[in-house]
Amino acid sequence: MIELLKDLIRIKSDDVEGANEALLFCKEWLEQRGIMATLYENESHLMLVAEIGSGEECVVWNGHVDVVPGNDSQFEPYIDDDFLYGRGSADMKAGVAAMMVAFYELSKVSQTLTKKVQLHIVTDEETGGDFTSKYLVDKGFTGDFVICGEPTHLHIGLQAKGIIQFDVHVKGKSSHGSRPWEGVNAIEQAFTFDKEMRNLSFLTASNAFYDYPSLNLAKIHAGARYNVVPDACIISYDLRFVPGQVEKEIVNEIHQMADQLFPGTILVVHATAPAVTTSENDPYVAKLHSVTSEITKEPTNLFGQHGSADTRFYAEKGAGAIEFGPSGADWHGEKEYVSISSVEKYKNILVSFIVN
Ligand SMILES: [Zn+2]
Repeated sequence: MIELLKDLIRIKSDDVEGANEALLFCKEWLEQRGIMATLYENESHLMLVAEIGSGEECVVWNGHVDVVPGNDSQFEPYIDDDFLYGRGSADMKAGVAAMMVAFYELSKVSQTLTKKVQLHIVTDEETGGDFTSKYLVDKGFTGDFVICGEPTHLHIGLQAKGIIQFDVHVKGKSSHGSRPWEGVNAIEQAFTFDKEMRNLSFLTASNAFYDYPSLNLAKIHAGARYNVVPDACIISYDLRFVPGQVEKEIVNEIHQMADQLFPGTILVVHATAPAVTTSENDPYVAKLHSVTSEITKEPTNLFGQHGSADTRFYAEKGAGAIEFGPSGADWHGEKEYVSISSVEKYKNILVSFIVN
């Protein structure tokens, strides 16, 4: 399995071509072991689906082979003690390699399985997931329970925050820069708007996994000349809301404040993603929890992710979807690594979760 992981890391899958090459490598690896994998292509992004077992229930394992950009040396894996270093080692070629090996092991006892296991390997998670995981979900590949093998230190990432990215077009009135009192400075208005928004109640929401939502002022577009009072300012936000909050209510609250204090302001929602709200009472979660603690001999935590992953596409269709994967560190960073022993345990957990 670790050789497979090293082979995967060597494929420089930080662009569409490289990710497709890694995907085809996975397909061949599976086929050499007698596992039929169906290839799908969407807007030149490749993905694959393989299925074993039978029955009413279906568990999906989802893994992505694309990685964030790295320099050439990061695609040369090396081992130091229990750590395997390389771009994508943790995020998430270790998860993919373990899923492939676990899938292969299960394929040998496929006749005895009382549920279906579907393996989804995809190639665009790091750039949004719209072309592959979302595509598969839209095609009907969902399942009852979905494990995305992102690195979670063998703890269970039950929830993920939702996303609202939006632009606020703040209006002012231009005048000569030497007589600013004759105009209304849109940039200054935008600052006031920002302050008012941060006092709104939607930013105080919390639940068992999160203390509050987050709000990042990501972009400002305004102003052209020193001697002109700007009459327009666009401020752009990335809001991550807590599962349980309602997207529409948040937008309404901002709207109401804007209408009251900043007439003429326009709010444009750029993109949204729902929160992942898998319940801690989900029977699959309970089972995974006990299988994991048994194999790791350590307590397994349930936690909420701040960022979002491909889980959201499945969760949107009603499947219980979680992030669950091996231990590692510094993903998206210089010294990314994964703990080899945790990858072994992870593979055993995946198998045990299905057969027991
Ligand atoms: Zn990832």
